[in-house]
Amino acid sequence: MARNPKYDILFEPVRFGPKTMRNRFWQTSHCTGYGSDRPGTQARFRGMKAEGGWAVVCTEFCSIHPESDEYPWHSARLWDDGDVVNLRYLCDEVHRHRSLAGVQLWYNGMHSPCLESREVARGPSGLPSNVFPERCLYDAAADEDDIRAIINMYVLAAERAEQAGFDLVEVSGADSTLPMQFLERRYNRRSDGYGGSLANRARFYIEVMAALKRAVGDRLAVTTRFETDTINGECRIQHFDEGLHFVELMHSEGVCDLWAVKIGDYEEWGEDAGSSRFRKTNWMRPFVSHVKSIVGASVPVVSNGRFTSPDDMVTALRSGQCDVIGAARPSIADPFLPTKIAEGRVEDIRECIGCNICVSRMQQQALLSCTQNPTSGEEYRRGWHPEHFEPAADPCSVLVVGAGPAGMECAMVLGKRGYTVHLRDCAPELGGHWRDVARYPRCAEYGRLISYRQIQLEKLRNVEVHLGVPAMTADDVLQYGADKVVIATGAHWATDGLGAEVHRPVAGADAERAEVLTPEQIMGGKRVVGEKVVVLDGDGYFTGVAMAELLADQGKAVTLVTNMNMVAEFSKYTMEMPNNKRMLHEKGIRFLTNHWAHSFVPGRLRLFYLYRDSAGLYEVEPGRWGRRTSDELVDLECDALVLVTARVPNGALYADLKARRAEWQRHEVQAVYRIGDCHAPRQALNAIFDGHRLAREFESAHPQHPLPFIRERQLWGHSTIPQRGDLRPAVEPV
Ligand code: ADP
Ligand code: SF4
Repeated sequence: MARNPKYDILFEPVRFGPKTMRNRFWQTSHCTGYGSDRPGTQARFRGMKAEGGWAVVCTEFCSIHPESDEYPWHSARLWDDGDVVNLRYLCDEVHRHRSLAGVQLWYNGMHSPCLESREVARGPSGLPSNVFPERCLYDAAADEDDIRAIINMYVLAAERAEQAGFDLVEVSGADSTLPMQFLERRYNRRSDGYGGSLANRARFYIEVMAALKRAVGDRLAVTTRFETDTINGECRIQHFDEGLHFVELMHSEGVCDLWAVKIGDYEEWGEDAGSSRFRKTNWMRPFVSHVKSIVGASVPVVSNGRFTSPDDMVTALRSGQCDVIGAARPSIADPFLPTKIAEGRVEDIRECIGCNICVSRMQQQALLSCTQNPTSGEEYRRGWHPEHFEPAADPCSVLVVGAGPAGMECAMVLGKRGYTVHLRDCAPELGGHWRDVARYPRCAEYGRLISYRQIQLEKLRNVEVHLGVPAMTADDVLQYGADKVVIATGAHWATDGLGAEVHRPVAGADAERAEVLTPEQIMGGKRVVGEKVVVLDGDGYFTGVAMAELLADQGKAVTLVTNMNMVAEFSKYTMEMPNNKRMLHEKGIRFLTNHWAHSFVPGRLRLFYLYRDSAGLYEVEPGRWGRRTSDELVDLECDALVLVTARVPNGALYADLKARRAEWQRHEVQAVYRIGDCHAPRQALNAIFDGHRLAREFESAHPQHPLPFIRERQLWGHSTIPQRGDLRPAVEPV
């Protein structure tokens, strides 16, 4: 289909410095964990976005020197010519699709643990890091020679970037990196020309930009990513105070070709990577539009805001908020988002759901993956393309039982590959357990996971979806007439308090009783008796806090009890922890950590503290050594107990079919596989990945078992750059 003319503005070229981007789509710098040490994964991942229409594709934060080392988090690096070799592949891939490659130059000062390099970062004042307060991490206070050295590091890194083929260098002036450490009063205690007044504190940042302009500015664009407000109050950067004044200062120096604007610093990263549970599309609008009004028409401004709708993008552009649509997560969830708008296929956009699982992978020091897009990160190592599916050579008929995330994804990919698929579910709607999730407080955007697949399934003529059918038994499956069967029957919340803490049920916790409930029962309408409710959370992600909020909103007095060190412990990875805590506080939800349930009777939940036994080991009885155990218990008043303790696979159908393997041939069933939570309950991204992978590898010798993938690592016996004894280019001023 042709593009809707109202979206034409999105495809206008934009000039910045010596470069021109072919449209207004900018893939903002974002972490992946691929760095420069996994050149294939990095290059194909970024190249895919260029192929999908993003006119500028940036790296993640890219360390300019071993003094700025955040290992084991993986940044890109431009430390030496070895990194140039690896990152050149990224630039080549991006250029192959007529896009521009950007690299974010990053020096992290006091927040550099240097666990790999063992060097010491320099900073404005020699203070302890507030990001890693437990690590005994200080920067070395920089004198003026050190400042010159650091600026030289930026310049050398930019020159290496140019050698690698990058088109623009973006100075990270965000997330509490060194330019911000000079700028912010809380970090800068200097009394020389780099401290004191705003102009003095801004000097380092502006000098870095000016040095880059002098060194590479006639060939490369020199840009910055700046946060106008750190969203944490006085003595930090506040938009209407020093945030906008700094923009005026830097703009008047003429050293910045383009501004990418954000809010939130390292501690409040969740304000930049705002999750959909807390921030709606384009939440940064007021901050960005003021920057645009300062820098005027000649300098483009990039605005992020989890934009997935072209109408929202057009509104942002036409309102004068920005010139360029920036996106990290929407470009991960759908690398082909611009192409789909250009081709008039807006309904095919795989919209980001704002879950921040992508960020969580990085925060777990792992590799980026996406809930919505199971091919992200798999472009190189598994050779997956998000929009291309290899037609099956000999498509047979497949029955998929269960239309949750795993079953929907598997049926969709099998359908795109040409199989004849019947997707059957006893529920009246698609989505499995995710239907409930999308109705949890704050989780409406999670519903996009279902709607995207629903639209795709409706388009596939070779896929039939049968909903509201009787629950299928092994007899039903064997007699169905399909050549192959995929079981995707999901999981349910434990009804007896089974959880990871003691791996045993909780005495008296039985969801058959009126006073005990599971999340499914609550979403299904079971009445929550009494006033005092305890949510027992052994899951640690969003379900526990969602149940607590839901019930608090109904006027219950809610206490959340968890065995973990913090409520919603996983949300420290998704950057939602601070706002989860604020929400609990605002709604008066009390919480107790490091406790687990001992027993429940209506009116009273009995808990134990996980560390109630002695620290020392003693002779507890003659000849028997161990901890001195305690039987200390804590009682909580509890009219109703909500069990968010563990999920249990719905594995019976697969087990029945496997037990009747001898009958498969008689029924002409060639194979039965299982995917998703009925195999093992996991986060939705893994259920979706499971369904996707099986469908991609459906003709392999043993499709239930994944094919190997390319592992990027140094293989012994090959030369490395640099070699031991090689000299680094000098950065210290002479
Ligand atoms: P996953 O996350 O693995 O995709 P879900 O729990 O979300 O799993 O979805 C499983 C789906 O399977 C649910 O919609 C459920 O109604 C359906 N289901 C479970 N058992 C059967 C069965 N025997 N016959 C048909 N549908 C089933
Ligand atoms: Fe969006 Fe979630 Fe994918 Fe990240 S993981 S890009 S937040 S859908």
